[in-house]
Amino acid sequence: MNELELIVDLHKDNERQGPGSVQDTCKALSFIPNSSDKILEIADLGCGTGAQTLDLANNSNAKITAVDIFPEFLNRLNEHISDAGLDDRIVTKCEDINDLSFEPESLDIIWSEGAIYNLGFEKGVKYWKKFLRPGGYIAVSEITWITAERPVKIEDFWKTEYPEIDRASGKIQILEENGYSLAGYFYLNKNSWLEKYYYPLEASIEGFLKRHPQKELADKIVKDCKAEQKLYETYSDYFSYGFYVAKKEV
Ligand code: SAH
Repeated sequence: MNELELIVDLHKDNERQGPGSVQDTCKALSFIPNSSDKILEIADLGCGTGAQTLDLANNSNAKITAVDIFPEFLNRLNEHISDAGLDDRIVTKCEDINDLSFEPESLDIIWSEGAIYNLGFEKGVKYWKKFLRPGGYIAVSEITWITAERPVKIEDFWKTEYPEIDRASGKIQILEENGYSLAGYFYLNKNSWLEKYYYPLEASIEGFLKRHPQKELADKIVKDCKAEQKLYETYSDYFSYGFYVAKKEV
């Protein structure tokens, strides 16, 4: 297995592949007006194994297309879908979120938790917009500075990892400059990072290392993963995922 395949193997047994929670998904959903007479079409982009896809299905009457590039994640999601009897509500699609096959203006909501960074926030909100009908909504979570001042160590880490990191005002400005109006914003709390993401990930490390003994690459992945968790635990007052919900202007 190459590095990417190993990373997928480490994450595929977990409920989430990034920070989040059912409360966060429902809070973001609450910013979007919901008329029960219309079945909404949602695309969940970068769905992973689909924790938020299932939460969306359970808390709306929408039809959801869940998109990810890794079949291993989608296989897991397909199992969850049939276990939950949601086959008539959710379909999965193995596709690059940089190159989507949806019809223009065919979606009511574009949902994406912890995945828009793969394109970059600005490129993502620009590119995905054409798939939304006028008046449709985008709901995305994105790494965001909480404070104006940050310790050098965390500032340097994120400037290298993801130079697009900014405060919420910067992200909201990008949305406004690209024909969206903000419907709601909040950032994820520590529980959504630790209990929902890092602790379960930590618990899956032992099994992962057993599956891949004597592999330098597997050890490196675990080391990086632990370092990232430590960084979060040390500097959680300074950054989080911001959740942005915005309406495509008509
Ligand atoms: N939304 C999930 C997963 C977030 S992790 C959650 O919050 O738990 C980011 C996801 O984006 C991963 O599942 C990864 O496989 C997917 N991804 C990364 N690049 C992608 C691309 N170019 N096209 C489609 N999916 C991609």
